[in-house]
Amino acid sequence: MKNYLTASISASAVRHNIQVLRGLIGEGVKLCPVVKDDCFGHGMDVLYPVLAELTDGFAVAAPLEALELRSKGYHGFILCFLSAYFDDFKIQDELVWQEITQTVMSKSALESIQAAARRVGKRAKVHLKVDTGMGRLGVPAQQAVDLIKTINATDEVTLTGIYTHFATADEVDRTSTFRQLELFESILAEAGNIMRHAANSAATLDLPETHFDMVRPGIAVYGCHPSDQLKSNVGLQPCMSVKAKLIAVKHIPAGSHSGYGLTHRYDRDSRVGVVPIGYGDGYFRNLSNKAVVRINGRDAPVRGRVSMDQMTVDVTDITDVKVGDEVEVISSDPTAPNCVENLARLAGTIPYEITCHLGHNMRHELVD
Ligand SMILES: *Cc1c(COP(=O)(O)O)cnc(C)c1O
Repeated sequence: MKNYLTASISASAVRHNIQVLRGLIGEGVKLCPVVKDDCFGHGMDVLYPVLAELTDGFAVAAPLEALELRSKGYHGFILCFLSAYFDDFKIQDELVWQEITQTVMSKSALESIQAAARRVGKRAKVHLKVDTGMGRLGVPAQQAVDLIKTINATDEVTLTGIYTHFATADEVDRTSTFRQLELFESILAEAGNIMRHAANSAATLDLPETHFDMVRPGIAVYGCHPSDQLKSNVGLQPCMSVKAKLIAVKHIPAGSHSGYGLTHRYDRDSRVGVVPIGYGDGYFRNLSNKAVVRINGRDAPVRGRVSMDQMTVDVTDITDVKVGDEVEVISSDPTAPNCVENLARLAGTIPYEITCHLGHNMRHELVD
């Protein structure tokens, strides 16, 4: 943990995004933000109170994430996408005891949840996940109806919901999303009157016919678009900015270099600032010689290779720059060159990976 790095998370940006998403879904549709992986790196500790107030539940990936929400005092609906695997009875029992809604995708998963429910002496609530084309977790669509019948015949387990997940909802071509949707709908006819959900951020933003009873947006809650192909103009506001301070400013004569591999040569007498953040803190190494940071409102290009804990930026054109000046490594302004979406583009990845990686090594603070 680096006490000198700060991720500032804007509560008002998150509130705004929730409001935007609420405006897109119908009155009766529940909003269940996906908060897996420490809120995509934004920090559960700071975001929990903001989100708990405005939403109808939480979706997480891992069982311990679900239990963490309970330990924060959350009593509402929590859906866990993954299970307690490999005979971890203690966690399996906790999930049932603490009334976490678990995902079932096979008979064997059902049996282990049933066994936990027996040990604990409490009914387990489950949602069935159907694989309609994503080809990852979920019961194959052809076997879904069978599994529904088996769950309904299982004493200790109650089927309260059914869901699927889209593989290409963030692409312009809707063909396979609509194929997945059609397959999902064909199974719903057999599912009875339980909660149905399918929409991630992309589908929540762009495909109202996928909203059903609940939506599960992740990245949009935090203010980024799921992909460049899906540029909805609903006005999402990125909620994260990352700040550091310059720890050194030095003169570098023309013809010199900075960083491992000496990959950047300074053609003129320059001033270089050292920023104490690197790939160990989640700042991608392949942003070397590509990205910019902002100092005193001006762009400072990242020069040379990003190291594990530090990197060098060119501050020659920024007047009055000095040690201790604030460096905006990530901007929450979606039009800034150092916003998450642009850094994802430059690094050849997606906004999700940028924010997830930045979560670990720094202090998170809630700002308004
Ligand atoms: C991660 C995840 C989501 C959220 O996806 P976004 O693209 O961030 O909106 C929704 N549903 C499931 C099953 C997921 O794994």
